[in-house]
Amino acid sequence: TAARLHGIPPTIFAEMSALAAATGAVNLGQGFPDVDGPEKIIEEAVSALRSGRNQYAPGPGIPALREAVAAHQERHYGLTFDPAREVAVTTGATEGIAAAILALVDPGDEVILVEPYYDSYPAMVQFAGGVRRPVTLSLDPAAPGGRLPRAALEAQVSSRSKVLLLNSPHNPTGTVLTREELETVAAFARDHDLTVVSDEVYERLTFDGTPHIPIATLPGMRERTLTLSSIGKSYSFTGWKVGWATGSEHLVQALIGAKQWLTFTSGAPLQPAAAYALEHLDHWPKELALDLQERRDLLCAGLKGIGLDVTIPEGTYFAVSDIADLGWSDGLEFCRALPERAGVVAIPLQGFYDGDAGKHLVRWTFTKQRDVIEEALERLGKGQ
Ligand code: PMP
Ligand code: GLN
Repeated sequence: TAARLHGIPPTIFAEMSALAAATGAVNLGQGFPDVDGPEKIIEEAVSALRSGRNQYAPGPGIPALREAVAAHQERHYGLTFDPAREVAVTTGATEGIAAAILALVDPGDEVILVEPYYDSYPAMVQFAGGVRRPVTLSLDPAAPGGRLPRAALEAQVSSRSKVLLLNSPHNPTGTVLTREELETVAAFARDHDLTVVSDEVYERLTFDGTPHIPIATLPGMRERTLTLSSIGKSYSFTGWKVGWATGSEHLVQALIGAKQWLTFTSGAPLQPAAAYALEHLDHWPKELALDLQERRDLLCAGLKGIGLDVTIPEGTYFAVSDIADLGWSDGLEFCRALPERAGVVAIPLQGFYDGDAGKHLVRWTFTKQRDVIEEALERLGKGQ
């Protein structure tokens, strides 16, 4: 195989979901809901399939979806984008990440990213021939200087730094960066003339009234930020792979320049359905977040009950726990043994760090129905 694939392990999500399937374990690993999103959106997709929306959509996406995305950004964040030039549809945020990095990073360029990172980020940086510079996110909300302090960011910057890859609400930790923390990141990006690629796929899934603040809304950031999101998490259609990018024209057009050679265009019949969701079911993600918050509480209380030290997430699908208190030191070993010992699957974090900082951390998803979470907790209680 080509050098660009060397050293990139198979994704842990595939290994752990296969383990769940093979052992019949309750899968609190890969983050996908066990209930689909609104029926009405499915009907829109079916009707698009039946009414001849089955040929290539325009490369940057159908106008209705680009307009719905622009309206969403304006309604929620006061950000205005020209749907014709400053919005692009992608095949999930995953393609958005790939196209953004391929469009912005030359061989030898450095990309500053937050660890633990979503695993497609380091893979894509390597595909582009870039070099990753990880900054470790603190799990302590009261950390001095914030969870991404300026000194930690400065330690990774050089004259080759081009892009800062940000993700808030953050997978896997559930961290939602505060305005102050984002201001630190924004000042750093401005001072070093970095382009920010901001992965905001969990933008609608925050808890306890925690606001999601797009970094593009901070002073001087709109022109240097490419924001990515998708239909997957907000509307519980993770398999649809309809995503979008917003940003100033030069950044979105650069992304389209790469995207046209990756997929050319994204799935046509799902685009009108995604537009419908954003336009007509704007309240739905809010209800989902409230429901998810209760399931977060159920899972976190249960994990604490069996002696795990859990960080309470402010958003996303995930909670992270330290397994040291259970007498384990290696999360991968713990997760590989867990289906046999307790009949549950979780995700070890160490593959999402360059160093050892995440070796004792394990991620659990609560985007499952209550009885599934209860069953997992009961099994964990017996299996410890
Ligand atoms: N970024 C993060 C942080 C994610 O958790 C996910 C979901 N797997 C993605 C991107 C990919 O989103 P999509 O399914 O829209 O490609
Ligand atoms: N975002 C989901 C997770 O982190 C799915 C990841 C994946 O399937 N690649 O679990």
